[in-house]
Amino acid sequence: MPLYPKPHTKEWFAALARFNPQQAAHTKAVIEAAGSTEVCSVCGETPTRDYQVVGQELEKDAVATTRLCGDCFDIRGEGLLPFAPGDNSSQN
Ligand SMILES: [Zn+2]
Repeated sequence: MPLYPKPHTKEWFAALARFNPQQAAHTKAVIEAAGSTEVCSVCGETPTRDYQVVGQELEKDAVATTRLCGDCFDIRGEGLLPFAPGDNSSQN
């Protein structure tokens, strides 16, 4: 089942580095340039909100969470719902 780590945490980066190394590297660079993790995963803008992919077939180990600004959500927000920590089982 896909993974729902809180965006931009150590766990999120670790999971994304396995699933999509390019995106992980991109977001790492964005965060470093911004000097904050409270920025958009894609472009580094603020304000942001955390989202999760809902209702789609995802690969095992897909990282189904992201942090987006309003513009990036408009562009790629289809199928995303606000991230609600605790909704998804990380209780192993
Ligand atoms: Zn953005």
